[in-house]
Amino acid sequence: MDRKEFLTKSAGLVIISGLSVLGISAQEKTNKKYTVIDKRCDGCGHCFRACRDKALTATNDRKAVIDSQKCIGCGDCVRFCRRMAIVEIEENPKA
Ligand code: SF4
Ligand code: SF4
Repeated sequence: MDRKEFLTKSAGLVIISGLSVLGISAQEKTNKKYTVIDKRCDGCGHCFRACRDKALTATNDRKAVIDSQKCIGCGDCVRFCRRMAIVEIEENPKA
């Protein structure tokens, strides 16, 4: 690897690492479904900023609700919720 190639690859890694630290990453579409556990949600609004698909809306008392028609299952909102109020819906939950 020559000096120019090394510098180019290093710069790319630094940029990707920086975006990850800021919580910015490529949104991954999945078949996963998520829901908000109402009693855990305190209406802080952090998840609203995480969702780039505008799939999260607020109830009158500011609790988060996921619009399943808009949600692409990326899971980004889960990482932003410090109260662990957003959980994946298991299609076949274990008994
Ligand atoms: S980040 Fe969690 S606690 Fe805050 S509004 Fe969203 S679901 Fe509710
Ligand atoms: S998983 Fe969360 S962040 Fe991703 S699209 Fe659905 S509501 Fe938005």
